[in-house]
Amino acid sequence: MEKRLIKKDALAGIAKKMAGDFLVWAPVKKEDNILFEPLQKDGEPYFAYLNSKNAPKNVFFPHTEAMMKFTRTEKGMVFSSEENKADQSVLFGVRPCDAHSFVLLDKLFDQEKYKDGYYIAKRQNTTVISLACVQPPYATCFCTSVDGEPVSSEGADILLVDIGSDYLVEFITPKGENLAKYFGETKADAAAETKKNEIAAKAKEAITSKIPAHEVKPILDKNFDNPFWNTIHGKCLACGTCTYLCPTCHCFDISDEVKGSDGVRIRSWDSCMFPMFTKETSGHNPRVSQKERWRQRTMHKFKYYVDNFSAIACVGCGRCVMYCPVNIDIRKVVEDISKL
Ligand code: SF4
Ligand code: SF4
Repeated sequence: MEKRLIKKDALAGIAKKMAGDFLVWAPVKKEDNILFEPLQKDGEPYFAYLNSKNAPKNVFFPHTEAMMKFTRTEKGMVFSSEENKADQSVLFGVRPCDAHSFVLLDKLFDQEKYKDGYYIAKRQNTTVISLACVQPPYATCFCTSVDGEPVSSEGADILLVDIGSDYLVEFITPKGENLAKYFGETKADAAAETKKNEIAAKAKEAITSKIPAHEVKPILDKNFDNPFWNTIHGKCLACGTCTYLCPTCHCFDISDEVKGSDGVRIRSWDSCMFPMFTKETSGHNPRVSQKERWRQRTMHKFKYYVDNFSAIACVGCGRCVMYCPVNIDIRKVVEDISKL
């Protein structure tokens, strides 16, 4: 596929130009946080970031979304579906770990036996532009342990790599090529490609945090009842921060909100860290404590997803490590499991 060069200082202008034509989700700075939000007319994208606080999964899988609307009439209930509705969008400047998470979420929401029209419509109508990680990473980044790389095009339609005074722009898919007109006419030369390869190798080396993610599946297969599970959860507050910030967590709840004759069925993010997540109507809760909930979170990422989709459901973004209020570190959990 074609490759071009754009000047570094042109990037924000390109995002803003696209925002005149599409819904553009881009990183914006809000106080001390970088968040992915729709770029407003007078908004300024912020690309000098390591990673955003929120994972951009909400572009395809919003915190809360309407599934259908209903109205009680004299002739009975009238329903209207909200499925398959999505604006033409661009997700501009996501990090490769987050773009990798979309490939993992596709395996669940767009699989052969179950197709989630709400997710698929947004995914199909959105062009993903990744911004490679070429600067020193966070100490908590471990993408290379879970099949990722800091300069990777996986999950992206366009990949941007900072090679000095320019960005190398690689159009990865036909969907990405459709946006080529926004990126000028300067073709990339062989020197740019060589520079990119050097930068990619250095960026990969700079990820020094490693976990034995691929070694633990056979251990988890045999250790559902191991006393080890008593050792992780003691200080867990069941706050759900780790799951809400995680780019691959995808559990949701469905509820109806009714006012007068009108109602809407909504789905909202849920978390396996919450006691109510598995509470049954009878009052019985099969996951009675944080022990069972932490075991579920670990098993889901490193065993069940591997069983179901041949992929680990973690991209090594490190958000759960950075933001857990009591410093529970999934890297240590995996390391400890590898020694069982
Ligand atoms: S489990 Fe933690 S490190 Fe892995 S993808 Fe989720 S938030 Fe990132
Ligand atoms: S962020 Fe930490 S305290 Fe909160 S639910 Fe996750 S592991 Fe528990």
